[in-house]
Amino acid sequence: MKNRYCWLLLLPLLFGPASPACAWGFYGHRLLNRLAVYTLPPEMLPFFKANIDYLTTNATRPDSRRTVVPTEAPRHFLDVDAYGDSALTRHGRGLPRAYADAVALVGGEDSLLRHGIVPWQVARMKGQLTAAFKERDTDRILHLAADLGHYVADACVPLHTTRNYNGQLTNQRGIHALWESRLPELNGTSYDLLTGQAPYLDNPTEAAWLAVERAHAALDSVFTMERQLTAELSEDRKYGYEQRGRQTIRTYSREFSQAYHQRLNGQVERQLRYAARLIGAFWYTCWVDAGQPDLSQQRQQPSTAEELASERERQAAVAAPAAAIPGHDE
Ligand SMILES: [Zn+2]
Repeated sequence: MKNRYCWLLLLPLLFGPASPACAWGFYGHRLLNRLAVYTLPPEMLPFFKANIDYLTTNATRPDSRRTVVPTEAPRHFLDVDAYGDSALTRHGRGLPRAYADAVALVGGEDSLLRHGIVPWQVARMKGQLTAAFKERDTDRILHLAADLGHYVADACVPLHTTRNYNGQLTNQRGIHALWESRLPELNGTSYDLLTGQAPYLDNPTEAAWLAVERAHAALDSVFTMERQLTAELSEDRKYGYEQRGRQTIRTYSREFSQAYHQRLNGQVERQLRYAARLIGAFWYTCWVDAGQPDLSQQRQQPSTAEELASERERQAAVAAPAAAIPGHDE
C-alpha cells in the first residue's frame, strides 16, 4: 500500500498526447525516467531529484525527434525476427555487439538500420553519458540521461523486437498502443513499481541485449492472448469509441483491454518495473565508470541554453509535417 501511495505522487507531468508506435507512449516514458531517479544511490539522488522534472519532460524527446531527424527512427527498435532464432545469442550466429562488425555482417549500414539498432544505440549512449560525467558537464549529463532512459525503455517493449510491431501482419492492428499505452494508462495506479537501488552493470552492452532478449521472449504471450480473447469476444465487445481531444477514435474497448491485461498476468507491470531499474542501472554505471564524480560540485540545473534548445526541439517536432516515418511507423 505504501508503494502504491508513493508512486501516485509521481503522476503529475506524466500525461501527454497519445502517440501511436512510440514505445510506452508519453505516459510510460515519463513515468519510467521519473521512477529511475528513485533507484539511484545517495551520492546521485540529490542531483537527479533536483532535475526530475527535466528528465520527465524530456523522456519523450527521442520520439518527437523521429519526425524531424531522418536517422532517428531505427534507434528505437530491433526486429529480432528479421535475423532468425539465433540473432540474440552472444556467440556463433548471433548479431555482433560491435556496431561496425554488425554493419559488415549484414552488408552495409542501410541494411542494419532497416531492422533497427536499439541495443547498439543504448551501448553508444552509455559511453557518451560516462564521458559527460567525467567532464562534469551538467547540460550533457541531463540531456544524455533523459535520452538514454528513453532508449533503454524502448528495448524493454516486446513489440519493439519484431517486424510485426503493430500486429499488421497477423490482423491484430492496434496491439502496439494497446499493450504499451492503453494498459498502463488504465491500470498504472495499481502497479507496484518501486524497485530498490539499481545495480552496477558489469557488462552494460550485454545488459542492453538481455533487455531485448527478455522483451522478445514476452512477445508470444502478447500476440497469443490477444488472439484468444478476440476468438472469445464478439466484434462489438472488442472495440469501442473514445474521445481524444476533438477526435472520436475507434479503439480496443475497456472490457477487452482489461480482460487482456488480466490474461497477461502482470506482464506490463513487470516490464515497467524492469525498465525503471535498468534505466537507473545505466545512469549509475555511467557515473561509477566516470570515477564517481561529486555531483554536488557542479552546476545543479540545466543552463538556460539547454532549456531553450530542448524547447526549440519540441516546437520543431510539433511543427513538422505528419509524414510517414520509416521504421515502425504506424
Ligand atoms: Zn521510442
